[in-house]
Amino acid sequence: MALVNEHLLRLLDNYLFTDITRKVNSFKVTHPKAEVIHLGIGDVTRPIPAACREAMCKAVNDLGKAETFHGYGPEQGYDFLIEAILKHDYASRGVSLSASEIFISDGAKTDTGNLGDILRHDNSIGVTDPIYPAYIDSNVSSGRAGYIDEWGKWSNVVYIPCRMENNFIPPIPEQRIDIIYLCFPNNPTGAVLTKNELKNWVNYAIKNDALIIFDAAYEAYIRQPDIPHSIYEIKGAKKVAIEIRSFSKTAGFTGVRCGYTVIPKEVTAATLNGERISLNKLWLRRQTTKFNGASYISQRGAEAVYTPQGQEEVKTMIDYYMENARLMKKALGGTGLKVFGGENAPYLWVKAPDGMSSWKFFDKLLYDAQVVSTPGIGFGPSGEGYVRLTAFNDRRQCEEGIKRICHYL
Ligand SMILES: *Cc1c(COP(=O)(O)O)cnc(C)c1O
Repeated sequence: MALVNEHLLRLLDNYLFTDITRKVNSFKVTHPKAEVIHLGIGDVTRPIPAACREAMCKAVNDLGKAETFHGYGPEQGYDFLIEAILKHDYASRGVSLSASEIFISDGAKTDTGNLGDILRHDNSIGVTDPIYPAYIDSNVSSGRAGYIDEWGKWSNVVYIPCRMENNFIPPIPEQRIDIIYLCFPNNPTGAVLTKNELKNWVNYAIKNDALIIFDAAYEAYIRQPDIPHSIYEIKGAKKVAIEIRSFSKTAGFTGVRCGYTVIPKEVTAATLNGERISLNKLWLRRQTTKFNGASYISQRGAEAVYTPQGQEEVKTMIDYYMENARLMKKALGGTGLKVFGGENAPYLWVKAPDGMSSWKFFDKLLYDAQVVSTPGIGFGPSGEGYVRLTAFNDRRQCEEGIKRICHYL
């Protein structure tokens, strides 16, 4: 008899987006003529930059000729892409890394989940709350999160509340935590950390011998000049932090699939005997066992992001979303609603009026304005009382959606 992974069973009945779809579908059944606008999507909608498309077409043609055919690529990714990353994402910010510290992946979600493979099951976990659900869920599925309580908190997870009262900036915890997930610019709140705020976290990790997993998926959306794009801009971070990046939100690669993870040589974790093991080495071993690389085509597409044309097109795309965010925030702000984020991230984090719950406000937006949002509670207990709106839509849809919301408030 084959036995299932029962840890995974615990996730079966809490999938946020299934609940949203169910609610939207039943609304559509009772309101067949309503034109529903989706401001809940966490997926990009603009076409992939031409530079990337052309590079991918060329890569496909390479595969069609024996002389330029590519089979399995190098385990950590192609040098052409790694070199471009080192130069444009790091050297340009004064961060020096070596090629063997970069691991090209098929996306950030895969790696955030898989990193759990190289860490013992009984590490304590800390997350800022609310947060991208994949960090907790992947730990649940490996049995590391413990049990869920009536407020939706897992027993082995430390939740670091980020609310209006602390400007959505996570306070440094009092206790030791082994592994901390940080995501800045933040999904869902849109908050960013200044250099000093991020430095406090790096110092905490150094002092407490903790590991930080830093998700910088929205790095390209940072507008303020003094906000760090990489955790390695902070001194000492190379000893304690793994950084995860993705071309999904940067270049519209959610359907193409390419990202990368940085594990500096100095990052270590301990065995029970106290021996320090290089996580770079262990991750390489894990990857060569379970992963055969991102496709040649998507890596060529990602390389083109760093060409002058690619940079220009990516900037235009991000400017488009950020202009959506600006317009949305401005219009909503005029109604007296409390609206956060949207300045260094494509997300608006909106406080429900009159102490309304997340789901109640979600229903109101759907039934009054025919706008789909994402209930904040789906991102963790501290998300209660908020909804997330995204700027990942067509300008006209964003404007129309917000106009309707303003009308009904
Ligand atoms: C969208 C997103 C990612 C990107 O995931 P991919 O697997 O690279 O598409 C990673 N982290 C967060 C917080 C995200 O919102």
